[in-house]
Amino acid sequence: MDNLITIKNLKKIYKMGDEKIRALDDVNLTIREREFLCLLGTSGSGKSTLLNMIAGLEKPTAGEIIINKQKIHKMNEEQITKFRQKYVGFIFQAYNLIPTLTALENVSLGLTFQGVPKKKRDQMASEMLSLVGLGKRLHHKPTEMSGGQQQRVSIARAFVNKPSIVFADEPTGNLDTKTTYEIMDLMTNMAYEYKQTLIIVTHDNEISDYVHRIIHLKDGKIIEEIMNDSVIKNGVKEEFVYEKL
Ligand code: ADP
Ligand code: MG
Repeated sequence: MDNLITIKNLKKIYKMGDEKIRALDDVNLTIREREFLCLLGTSGSGKSTLLNMIAGLEKPTAGEIIINKQKIHKMNEEQITKFRQKYVGFIFQAYNLIPTLTALENVSLGLTFQGVPKKKRDQMASEMLSLVGLGKRLHHKPTEMSGGQQQRVSIARAFVNKPSIVFADEPTGNLDTKTTYEIMDLMTNMAYEYKQTLIIVTHDNEISDYVHRIIHLKDGKIIEEIMNDSVIKNGVKEEFVYEKL
């Protein structure tokens, strides 16, 4: 399989008064099409910074990010916004749903910016919510749903326009173990079906059973890389050979 994402000599330095924080310190990484990658590391190791930078949410201090031959680090705000709307889905630990909107409205909102007509938007959103098991919760607001249900809404929102890459920053950080497995089954089953690339930041060991490769970060550097020799796919653990991805 081809490389989808190439990261070269990536650096991010935050200036806090006189202090310089090296959030990312010369990161080099390539990610394949359809790969499921997990970014692991203690708090403050640079996981979110790396994720946000690949997703075009933050600008690097130095280095290159190339996705599908497009130079993300050279794009202006308008180009990056367009790129994100077209190719990227995002799932957050705290769900980040809009509290005044229903599940259906939260999922269909992103499609508004892409000019999808209302009827089609609502149809796509309701189909996706049914897929994540919330067909009977279309008109519930976030406060009327459990944490697991809210994360399902945010998964539906991330997947509704079938993006090439789905980013998730500690998606199961607020959930119990059973719900964590359910959410991971849901995300990976969809990503297998739609042939997507998944990049997940996590603390949870359960998640590493689902991914093809684990990248371990420390102090803004990659210190270890593990290719999994088995992965859970459609609820079953099976043998996996990275080279055959
Ligand atoms: P992680 O997600 O692994 O917990 P982060 O990527 O959020 O770590 O942060 C990496 C380092 O960069 C930390 O030391 C953090 O304090 C610092 N940092 C992150 N964002 C900012 C910011 N906006 N301003 C200043 N420092 C930041
Ligand atoms: Mg983080």
